[in-house]
Amino acid sequence: MIQLKSAREIEIMARGGQILAAAVRLAETDTRAGMSTLDVDRMIEEFIRSHEGALPSFKGLYGFPASVCASINEEIVHGIPSAKRVIRDGDIVSIDVGVLLEGYHTDAATTVAVGNVGAESLRLLDVTRKALAAGIAAAQPDNHVGDIGAAVQEVVERAGFNVTRDLVGHGIGTTFHEDPQVPNYGKPKRGVKLTAGLTIAIEPMVMIGSHKTRQLPDQWTVVTVDKSRAAHFEHTVAITAQGPRVLTQLAA
Ligand code: MG
Repeated sequence: MIQLKSAREIEIMARGGQILAAAVRLAETDTRAGMSTLDVDRMIEEFIRSHEGALPSFKGLYGFPASVCASINEEIVHGIPSAKRVIRDGDIVSIDVGVLLEGYHTDAATTVAVGNVGAESLRLLDVTRKALAAGIAAAQPDNHVGDIGAAVQEVVERAGFNVTRDLVGHGIGTTFHEDPQVPNYGKPKRGVKLTAGLTIAIEPMVMIGSHKTRQLPDQWTVVTVDKSRAAHFEHTVAITAQGPRVLTQLAA
């Protein structure tokens, strides 16, 4: 069931979104070679909890043990932070985070290039960022969920990369995953109609090679079957009468 939000609810999410945006910025500036993914998790969790009333959404969600998902190189999403998993120079690290504030969740992700990253990986990050921007631009009232997916898919496939079919964006609010699903592929004018008050996480997951995925035996980490690298960028967006409002980017 789709839960439309009032202006008041969207303002709460915008406040949580500012904390989340700052957490994502911290991940981008302070993730370094030699840190473990657990170090990143602790840094982000501590930052979120330093804001009164804010909690990391992921901790305990479906039993997930940490505050961020940290997914390196061919890992697409849902990597479990570990002291044994050390980030190396040349890695790309996707960090997915959620914040719960006053009963409302927001969700965002970034992919960090650590040290000397190859040109193809940098292009992957650039294209995925642009795909997210295109998806957000399509999140207009009276458009449909399919317009978002089509916009994302167009940017990605024009660049010669692929979007995941197995993982989708989602509605978000008092529950972390709400309706509707927001696929990263699709056809314009198809699917649920976008209306003011809808709050969704738009999250392209893009791979250099095949879109096929598999889950590791840890029951969480999703990797590309062909071991090609993948990137993930995400924002929580409110559909308003004036157009999309990104709730998880730092206010200028
Ligand atoms: Mg999400």
